[in-house]
Amino acid sequence: MPTPTPTPTPPPIPAYTPAGLPPATRGALLEGMERIYRELAEDVARAGPVCILRGVCCDFATMDYVLYASSLEVLYLGCFIDLARVRDAGKLCPFWLERRCSEHAVRPLGCRVYFCDPRYAAQAPEIYERHHRRIRELADRLELDYEYAPFLDFLARAGGRAATPGARAQVRTCT
Ligand code: SF4
Repeated sequence: MPTPTPTPTPPPIPAYTPAGLPPATRGALLEGMERIYRELAEDVARAGPVCILRGVCCDFATMDYVLYASSLEVLYLGCFIDLARVRDAGKLCPFWLERRCSEHAVRPLGCRVYFCDPRYAAQAPEIYERHHRRIRELADRLELDYEYAPFLDFLARAGGRAATPGARAQVRTCT
């Protein structure tokens, strides 16, 4: 009887946490991300989208929207919040409380760029891509693993819950 071929074990799915980062890398991550977020805010302000507080931009269920983020954004967030203790809010962002963001200062790139103002819709993708590219370059410079995946999956992994199968979009490790 032929011996069955063993199924290869998939590589472990990492949960990104800043806990093990050397202090110099952590400092450079904070400085780099803050510079990117600051310059992104300037670009968004120049584009001038208008927010009329509809409160729908974080309502993934109503908007049928998946927020993606990069592992560096998650590492940055993890420098301020214990991601392992973030509650499970199902298909909604756990930071969305009473229709407002409770972590506005450290929210990911996609949240910073997205506005429902139709006059701004054509500019948003270019602004997003430009600053997302800078985040990838920062990962290269700091020799950090880089992954791009649904934000809620990153949070689920940090909390020890299963991420959506097949949800990983782009993964690159520096090992
Ligand atoms: S992090 Fe904040 S802005 Fe982004 S989806 Fe969650 S509640 Fe909304």
